[in-house]
Amino acid sequence: MIEIRNLTRTYGPTTAVDDLSVTVRPGVVTGFLGPNGAGKSTTMRVTVGLTRPTSGEVVVNGHRYDRHAAPLHEVGALLDAHAVHPGRSARAHLRALAATHGIGPRRVDEVLDTVGLTDVAGQRAGGFSLGMGQRLGIAAALLGDPQVVLLDEPVNGLDPDGIRWIRALLRGLAAEGRTVFVSSHLMSEMALTADHLVILGQGRLLADMSLAELTASA
Ligand code: ADP
Ligand code: ADP
Repeated sequence: MIEIRNLTRTYGPTTAVDDLSVTVRPGVVTGFLGPNGAGKSTTMRVTVGLTRPTSGEVVVNGHRYDRHAAPLHEVGALLDAHAVHPGRSARAHLRALAATHGIGPRRVDEVLDTVGLTDVAGQRAGGFSLGMGQRLGIAAALLGDPQVVLLDEPVNGLDPDGIRWIRALLRGLAAEGRTVFVSSHLMSEMALTADHLVILGQGRLLADMSLAELTASA
């Protein structure tokens, strides 16, 4: 569960997130919808502990990550730029990340399989397509088998097969009881992907409702 309480984050004169309070529950896919610049990435970065709140707090399964990044076994995140050394193979990249987090190489093979990269795991990540790069970023996010998974615009630039694959993956993670929080600027995409919607505009909460409620009110 992610409890966002009165979160505000400013960057100089810009208020990226403005007194946002919302709870993201486990067991469903929660879509985080809003136009570019609405504050979705900032909220996710605070949740993972990569950015500090200006005020308010985010509590993730009882923990606050306001001093250091969340451990991979608590929170897995695909954020805008998953940095990969282009000359390294996908497997080597994941093994290095795993090693720094005390995760064994067997788990690397598991997540490669989960994201469908086993056959290309020995190839340099620099030669990967956008979709393969997204899969690698998702593999990294899942490495620690986290209960909370955040994905920032995961379907951007993907082909229909890649989009369907991500949808199925998110549903599977939610069905396992995990908290799944996924951002998009496309309502059409979220209508097909999410069970619950949190809608943000200019840093403020505009709606927090199930897809069924939204459809009934439209
Ligand atoms: P979204 O993910 O919804 O596109 P962001 O959280 O990326 O929104 O951005 C919200 C606002 O905060 C935007 O106006 C953006 O320009 C600003 N912003 C985000 N990160 C920074 C930063 N590191 N420095 C300055 N401004 C930022
Ligand atoms: P360091 O603090 O030495 O940079 P980390 O292992 O904390 O090493 O971070 C390595 C990379 O993983 C960074 O690019 C960071 O943005 C990203 N990262 C950190 N925490 C998480 C997380 N919980 N989920 C996904 N990526 C993360």
